[in-house]
Amino acid sequence: MRHFEEYFSKMIKNQKPMNYEKLSELVLKWGEEKGIFTNSTPLRQLDKTQEELNETREALEKLLNMDEKNLQLEFDFVEYFDSGSDEEDILMEVKDGIGDMIVTIILLSKMVNMSSVDCLQAAYDVIKMRTGRMVDGQFVKDN
Ligand SMILES: [Mg+2]
Repeated sequence: MRHFEEYFSKMIKNQKPMNYEKLSELVLKWGEEKGIFTNSTPLRQLDKTQEELNETREALEKLLNMDEKNLQLEFDFVEYFDSGSDEEDILMEVKDGIGDMIVTIILLSKMVNMSSVDCLQAAYDVIKMRTGRMVDGQFVKDN
């Protein structure tokens, strides 16, 4: 790690995480400054969410390949060794992907005159009462 990288890495570690609402305000300010609200549309913005989702999926699949590398004979070793990434790098890609998805969703919410915090609250208010069961790795709600 170079000197400045070490410096920034320490600086970031010492920072107290901001809460979601504060971060969301900063994201909206950033979007405003970049002209996203005046030059994009909700559907174009949703395309960005999809892009970030695909990136997150790719990173998760890389992790899965790593986990399975000793179990699967058909594992593609060439691809694995060519990637040059270790698990920590891939986890950073997952983190980046999740963060970017949230950013695009915060911006999309604003474009339809909503707050992502309100959307999250509304979703939680519905799911907190929900009953269901796990099927094939996913929660399936009762009717
Ligand atoms: Mg990204």
